[in-house]
Amino acid sequence: MADIQLSALQKKFGPIEVIRSIDLKIKSGEFIVFVGPSGCGKSTLLRMIAGLENVTAGTVSIDGADVTRAEPSKRGIAMVFQTYALYPHMSVEENMAFGLEMAGMPKQQRLKTVRKAAETLQLVPYLDRKPKALSGGQRQRVAIGRAIVRDPKIFLFDEPLSNLDAALRVQMRLEIAKLHDELGATMIYVTHDQVEAMTLATRIVVLRDGRIEQFGTPDELYSNPDNMFVAGFIGSPK
Ligand code: ADP
Ligand code: MG
Repeated sequence: MADIQLSALQKKFGPIEVIRSIDLKIKSGEFIVFVGPSGCGKSTLLRMIAGLENVTAGTVSIDGADVTRAEPSKRGIAMVFQTYALYPHMSVEENMAFGLEMAGMPKQQRLKTVRKAAETLQLVPYLDRKPKALSGGQRQRVAIGRAIVRDPKIFLFDEPLSNLDAALRVQMRLEIAKLHDELGATMIYVTHDQVEAMTLATRIVVLRDGRIEQFGTPDELYSNPDNMFVAGFIGSPK
């Protein structure tokens, strides 16, 4: 578990400011959901927390330590993307073990760790398959499995279910909620889906044009939106 603090965080791409002095405190074990229109900076913010994007100004702290310039691998963070980015020539087991092998974990321990994650994600029957022989939902489970095996303190999800059909999205949403309960890790989750935001989040961050428009529990945002923009995102059914 880990708390995260963003202070006056800013990102510019050339002259264009896409993240405008964001302050945010996330408590250990929270499930934070970022919502906001396309291009408002959700992915950029996640990538800065993960260390995949340089910070123009401000700081990222994890458990009180300034990690603004720390290597991604030193942050205790795993990120799951919308596109699964699995290695096509590797089996499910090899895909899940690859990061551990890179990190120098001995083979026996790797196999055990992958097995345990595969059990959690109901992937045991598929360990020998190649990604192309899996359904979309199974592929996304493998992508989540690759994150779990590293035992991160923090999970970042960037629209992980957007490529799945509606029924599968519901099922995977329930699985991600269960995972959060079981692991107790801090999670930040980007979505366009209002139902995902309302059901998964302990607190929701509504972003607009690189700024936080409102930050609160699903109930607070639903019952007491600060303005029409927030109400449009949270209050009105899709
Ligand atoms: P979101 O995930 O909310 O859709 P992004 O974080 O991807 O938004 O993008 C925020 C803004 O930053 C957009 O205007 C986008 O075009 C711009 N942007 C993102 N990445 C880059 C980049 N590498 N170079 C230049 N502009 C970028
Ligand atoms: Mg994005």
